[in-house]
Amino acid sequence: MPSEIRDVIIIGSGPAGLTAAIYTARANMHPLVIEGEPSSTSDQPGGQLMLTTEVENFPGFPDGVQGPELMGLFRQQAQKFGAELITEKVSRVDFSERPFKMWLASDGPDAEPHLAHSVIVSTGAKPILLGLEAEQRLFSKGVSTCATCDGFFFRGQDIAVVGGGDSAIEEATFLTRFANSVTIVHRRDELRASKIMQDRAFANEKIRFAWNSVVVDLDGEDTLQGAVLQDTITGERRTLPVTGLFVAIGHQPNTDIFRGVLDMADTGYLVTQPGSTATNIPGVFACGDVQDSVYRQAITAAGSGCMAAIDAERWLEAQRH
Ligand code: NAP
Repeated sequence: MPSEIRDVIIIGSGPAGLTAAIYTARANMHPLVIEGEPSSTSDQPGGQLMLTTEVENFPGFPDGVQGPELMGLFRQQAQKFGAELITEKVSRVDFSERPFKMWLASDGPDAEPHLAHSVIVSTGAKPILLGLEAEQRLFSKGVSTCATCDGFFFRGQDIAVVGGGDSAIEEATFLTRFANSVTIVHRRDELRASKIMQDRAFANEKIRFAWNSVVVDLDGEDTLQGAVLQDTITGERRTLPVTGLFVAIGHQPNTDIFRGVLDMADTGYLVTQPGSTATNIPGVFACGDVQDSVYRQAITAAGSGCMAAIDAERWLEAQRH
């Protein structure tokens, strides 16, 4: 039954949340991190890097580092300075007055909320799915949203990636390490991905393209046997014989519990003031992918987590004087 009022509660435990935890812990703010829950593809919370294998572009690791290992190090560093972590999800918030109130998913209707003078929101984003019934049925049975987690299982197979952005091209390129062929299924005849990524894909002889095509159904009961494609111009349908389908059509920020509370864009991303992590509610800060639809890198998330910690610390200090 929580009654203590924390200086800061951090919601979420990806690179943004745990960096905020390291900084606020070192500033003697005794942060509580409500870190979220394990996902279907990871036995620990820790954000999207928990679904990643090799991370090659995080500075300080010239030989690369595994995503879960990197998040383990973040966690260890936050705990070393006294951050406390709870492996639960926040299900409800009340930011209408201070101290701010947060309830956990496991709390009963009469549970006492967790209280804090300031809050750092770092709940991240999750991959968007196609919305097909068969996609749910065959999820983890051929359908995946994480090439780096599941690519290994498709050694020597013919597989497909849906999408035309940087994620799709990155996933497809990575998957050619394992697969016999990778078909990029894109709804237009032009990729959205950056030029350098496009060039990489066009030069890769294992990558093929199904232009002007959308996936309308999937074949297979217990394992994926094929993707039914519809031509967006002629309406014709054909089955692409693939045993793996990686959906890479963008991400949805995890902001449902903040709807009507914190300002957000039409896309659901939280809005922060330019050059700051401040939200529309003084004392509530947002960092990482939950407020960043552009860069979405572990290092930018970590950087904005540091900003949120400093913003929260200075804001609290100003309140006290
Ligand atoms: P994105 O840029 O929004 O691309 C999403 C792709 O999926 C688009 O090609 C879109 O088609 C397609 N799409 C969306 N909804 C669809 C649907 N229902 N059915 C079929 N196709 C659909 O998302 P992203 O690739 O995840 O990238 C997001 C951001 O992260 C971007 O800023 C990107 O540059 C960045 N990023 C960078 C890197 C890197 O630099 N290494 C890697 C990954 C991501 P349309 O093109 O027709 O809209």
